[in-house]
Amino acid sequence: MSQNHSISIGRSPACAISIADDTVSWNHAELVINAKKQLFITDCGSSNGTFLVKKNGDIKQIRQSVIEDQARVRFGSCEFSAQMLFELAKEYLQQKTTTTPKTLAWTRCDCGVVMQEGKPCPGCHKSYQQKG
Ligand SMILES: [Zn+2]
Repeated sequence: MSQNHSISIGRSPACAISIADDTVSWNHAELVINAKKQLFITDCGSSNGTFLVKKNGDIKQIRQSVIEDQARVRFGSCEFSAQMLFELAKEYLQQKTTTTPKTLAWTRCDCGVVMQEGKPCPGCHKSYQQKG
């Protein structure tokens, strides 16, 4: 086995990157950082699909794809920049070497931007801390 740490993405709270959004499937996709330090995404047969949004705005549905640095990835209606996913993956894998990794919980703001639960929205800066 090589260093093939995969990072699960989905609505399930057990996923490494858990996204509380109805357009995201329970087990939506898997993310790995390959030997060339590129993001590599595999769709796990999600209902609403995984899409690669290129820098020039082209959108294509993917089953498996390397994600370029400047691209964005859409899981259902939730969009992440490649850079953000890379940071999340690194954060998750770092935790994994020290303690039991904590799931990174995400949700979609009313403004359409995905945000980490308990933190202000990076799009509209609205805080959802007291969300019931
Ligand atoms: Zn917002």
